Amino acid sequence: MEPDVSSLLSVQRAIEILDAEPLAPRATLVDLPEALGLRLRSDVIADRDYPPFDKSQMDGFAVRSTDFPTSDGGEHRLRLVGEIAAGQRSELSIEPGTCAKIFTGAAMPRDADAVIPVEFTTARDGAVTLRAAAEPGRFVAPRGSDCRAGDVVLRRGSVVTPAAIAVAASVGAWQVQAFARPRVAVISSGDELVAPGATPGPSQIRDSNQSMLVALLSRLGCDARGAGSVCDDPGAIRKALEAALRDADVLLVSGGMSMGDRDHVPRVLGEMGADLKITKLRIKPGKPFVFAGLSDGKYVFGLPGNPVSGFACTLRLVSRLLTRLAGGEPRDAERWRHATLDAPLPSNGPREFYQPARLADDGSASPLRWKGSADVYTLAAANALLVRAENEPALPVGARVRLLEIPS
Ligand code: AMP
Ligand code: MG
Repeated sequence: MEPDVSSLLSVQRAIEILDAEPLAPRATLVDLPEALGLRLRSDVIADRDYPPFDKSQMDGFAVRSTDFPTSDGGEHRLRLVGEIAAGQRSELSIEPGTCAKIFTGAAMPRDADAVIPVEFTTARDGAVTLRAAAEPGRFVAPRGSDCRAGDVVLRRGSVVTPAAIAVAASVGAWQVQAFARPRVAVISSGDELVAPGATPGPSQIRDSNQSMLVALLSRLGCDARGAGSVCDDPGAIRKALEAALRDADVLLVSGGMSMGDRDHVPRVLGEMGADLKITKLRIKPGKPFVFAGLSDGKYVFGLPGNPVSGFACTLRLVSRLLTRLAGGEPRDAERWRHATLDAPLPSNGPREFYQPARLADDGSASPLRWKGSADVYTLAAANALLVRAENEPALPVGARVRLLEIPS
């Protein structure tokens, strides 16, 4: 039996609190290659028409379509008057009965309005035999057909992807106004922890949360760094939190968040003058989740020490605030997938439940047999967290379920 959790905040209420927090994302002017993954702070505008000229889309011959009275694909013979390579400026004009050799990406000569691909032609002795129809505009991309000078080609708030970088480069936006990645520091707390590279004593364990959270935060678009671990001592915790916050916008602390005598973090945050906006949630795993605001506009998230708890809370909750801090909308943090359950599930308890699962390409979801919130091994085999509503009844095979996708 679970203790009564009815007085705890629901996940939905926590989301409302997080989304209502007024944030001021930091601005940055970055060279284009560094913009990958950032969100744009201003629109990117086309500096000229694209393509900037009527452009051949094929290697072949630029012709006048009126020289092809029928579109029967029969043979036509034209006099060859020149050649136009990509990048070349040509003063050629195509008189009736003539054509010019042209290459992909080259500007069409005056009075030509179609291209016959080279595959359908034979050139000999200054004349070309063409065996294809030539409707006006065939294999020609007209000037401005992609976009016009002054058009918005990339929108404020959109994420800079590799293709967006190509767009920005093509319109000459070699630097862009973007929102900076949120700077997030991660601290682990617990007397039992040693660094992953150290040899633990018989009752010690290696600190795996710090590396996991830094990695997850990086995947969520943050500038994340580990800021060490600290023992369960209030004075040491306070010093470590203050040091880590110096050059971070947001701090994540794992461990020491719950009810034990040695769980000091929420109290220390209170002593630091933090406004504890969330303490404890109706979520499984992750009940001891803490969200606190500091007077200088920075934030601290307190995560339970068990790795699956910290992971689920970061993916579901922390990510919302971080996404907004990176210039996005809360919904950009929603990574929902829908699938069909391939095994029955028992009824759920009173907390919203995030269970490690495998989402397959065929649209089915397999809940994994996890051993609880410490089971990082099963989490590593999962690619999604299957979400169960509070008190949801048992689900049969074939039921539709919602899953939160885990970034790989
Ligand atoms: P706590 O939230 O401090 O009560 O810790 C809950 C459980 O998570 C305990 O079994 C801890 O040993 C474990 N734990 C705490 N911090 C870490 C960490 N950084 N890495 C791995 N396990 C941890
Ligand atoms: Mg602890």
